[in-house]
Amino acid sequence: MKYDLAIIGGGPAGYTAAELAGLNGLKTILFEKNSVLGGVCLNEGCIPTKTLLYSAKVYYTAKESAKYAISCENVGFDLSKIIARKNKIVRKLNAGVRAKIQDAGVENVVGQAIVTKINNDGIWISCNDQVYTVDKLLLCTGSEVVVPPIPGIGETEYWTSREALDNKELPQSLIVIGGGVIGIEFASFFNSLGTKVIVVEMMDEILGGMDKELSAQLRNEYSKKGVEFHLSTKVTSVNGNKVEIEKDGQKSILEGEKILLSVGRRPVLDGFGLENMNLEKFRNGLKVNEFMQTSNPDIYACGDITGFSLLAHTAVSEAEIAIEHILGHHRKMSYKAIPGVVYTNPEIAGVGKTEEILQSEGISYHVKQLPMAYSGRFVAENEQGGGACKLILADDDTILGVHILGNPASEIIVIAGIAIEKGMKADELKAMVFPHPTVGEIIKEVL
Ligand SMILES: Cc1cc2nc3c(=O)[nH]c(=O)nc-3n(C[C@H](O)[C@H](O)[C@H](O)COP(=O)(O)OP(=O)(O)OC[C@H]3O[C@@H](n4cnc5c(N)ncnc54)[C@H](O)[C@@H]3O)c2cc1C
Repeated sequence: MKYDLAIIGGGPAGYTAAELAGLNGLKTILFEKNSVLGGVCLNEGCIPTKTLLYSAKVYYTAKESAKYAISCENVGFDLSKIIARKNKIVRKLNAGVRAKIQDAGVENVVGQAIVTKINNDGIWISCNDQVYTVDKLLLCTGSEVVVPPIPGIGETEYWTSREALDNKELPQSLIVIGGGVIGIEFASFFNSLGTKVIVVEMMDEILGGMDKELSAQLRNEYSKKGVEFHLSTKVTSVNGNKVEIEKDGQKSILEGEKILLSVGRRPVLDGFGLENMNLEKFRNGLKVNEFMQTSNPDIYACGDITGFSLLAHTAVSEAEIAIEHILGHHRKMSYKAIPGVVYTNPEIAGVGKTEEILQSEGISYHVKQLPMAYSGRFVAENEQGGGACKLILADDDTILGVHILGNPASEIIVIAGIAIEKGMKADELKAMVFPHPTVGEIIKEVL
């Protein structure tokens, strides 16, 4: 049977595209090798981590409740129940995605799809010994964990984010190799529950890509909570529960009950017949244009497979662009205002340019910044909380970047993203009415 569109991969890129395509009348088939839809994001990424982090936040708040004149005695937690709650939420959302795909009239095949050939009849895909031909193909195979060639890693039992999510016994101590977003979110989770956490990061600051000044403030908050950070430090070998590190030519050994490896992810480029498609690559992913077309105009690619952003909301936006293009529209993908959020406690979020990027690009800018304590609502809810809101403006006052440390940065950053995407100037954003009292008012206050 011939289809208008086949999608390989049922993560945020794949399921968003499938639903949109189906609702717009394209005869669509979605291949996912796992028995559930949702991809990394829903099954072992965004949603499970945020579910665990929320339990950790509730536990932390309960312990701190005296601050709010509330007495909570015998505050404790049951890690196996926290994991069970996480699994229940994932199952619920899995069912939601499945229902949307069915309602959109998309055929969902469980199995590994492989493109076998491309000819005048279309693109040929084989899955579970069946052959399908399609006019257009969308590749959404996502990304996988990078395991760096650290001496001893092959003989060591380590966790990746996948194992860390399902561990039911709290380790006494944990060495996190890699202080990026995923590493720091897990450091936050285990630190909140009482594990001694040590973070080793090769760069001179955690959370590369986020605002450096605010990342340093967040690191200080976690240092106060007991997390040990080793910056500008390289892991030179691992052996059992020992990690050898090197800083400024000096070697030393760290010991931890568990080791979590979180040094990054890379696009999945094998297992779907890429060798039969002759597509161009860019860096470590697939090359695409602003409509998400690969070097073959009938084949699109969205999400982590492009190796570009590695975020679920980027994957979703790219999927919308690809399907719109297949339907004959020409909206281009814009990466100007993709928010980045780290769901620590406090959260840190940023959108648009950082000072570091602007300096490297030689673009002149000025900064307006206030402590979060200038927001009444923030003070009401975070009596002793630090944090800051930083706006980066061009010489003509166009908003170039907004960076926030403080809860709920993940929600406030949306306003900033819209302002940046629309090219708003400081006065235009300041003229908007913000509800009072909200933490988001801090943006207006800064302006
Ligand atoms: C621990 C962790 C936390 C994260 N937290 C966040 C967060 O808070 N916010 C955020 O924006 N992003 C987060 N991410 C990143 C986010 O999960 C990814 O950016 C997102 O899942 C990418 O979506 P995707 O559709 O490109 O690919 P994926 O979600 O990776 O899905 C790809 C799918 O393709 C399937 N597949 C691959 N090959 C084939 C084949 N040949 N046939 C059939 N199926 C195939 C795979 O089984 C998989 O289900 C997190 C990631 C991790 C690991």
